[in-house]
Amino acid sequence: MIRLENVTKTYKLGQEKKIHALSDINVTIHPGDFISVVGPSGSGKSTFLAMAGLLERPNEGNIYFDEKEVSRLKDKQKTKIRAEKCGFVFQFPSLIPTLNALENVILPKTLDRTFSSKDLERGKELLVRVGLEDKVDNLPYQMSGGEQRRVALARALINEPEYILADEPTGAVDEANANIIIDLFKNWNQTGKTIIMVTHDMKLAKKASRLIYIDKGKIIREE
Ligand code: ADP
Ligand code: MG
Repeated sequence: MIRLENVTKTYKLGQEKKIHALSDINVTIHPGDFISVVGPSGSGKSTFLAMAGLLERPNEGNIYFDEKEVSRLKDKQKTKIRAEKCGFVFQFPSLIPTLNALENVILPKTLDRTFSSKDLERGKELLVRVGLEDKVDNLPYQMSGGEQRRVALARALINEPEYILADEPTGAVDEANANIIIDLFKNWNQTGKTIIMVTHDMKLAKKASRLIYIDKGKIIREE
């Protein structure tokens, strides 16, 4: 469970101006949730994800992972929690251009010392699950944009995270690939993953089980 309690995030713009990216947000993310966060550009969606995924520190309020307040832990401890519990899919796939699909997928594993040949097998399995069994050896430039996204999805799962946090995972991909991505999320949700997805595509957002509408840094509605 992730709980945001009275979370406020402001950014400084120059010397005096402040941007209230999030104001007094209260949300509980339950195990098994599939949440879409929707709202106009600049409304605070990515900031919300950065808070729930411990990527940034709130100015005010608390963030709980399973009842433990974690927002004020040291960076190293937060990195550990993120690595163990969270899989991220960002707006751009950010693959390493000189590594093939499989190497990109297992990259988070090779960074920790527990890497073994089992991880290679798991990486291959994940590529099968995202429909890329015939692209294992391809470098990113040898794949379409939609395929690169799916590699990033497989990479997000390599550490077997409890939570998947995705920021516009279907941005700039064609409709066919967007549907594949959403279907994968639905499938992973049914097998127990908790999913928090930011999107401005209402049609895709509605495929989630819970919708959170954000505007001007505030939650204005929930369905
Ligand atoms: P969204 O994802 O809904 O488009 P964001 O959460 O990215 O919105 O941004 C919310 C507001 O905070 C925007 O006004 C944006 O310009 C501002 N903002 C986001 N990140 C930063 C940052 N690192 N520094 C300064 N302002 C930021
Ligand atoms: Mg954003």
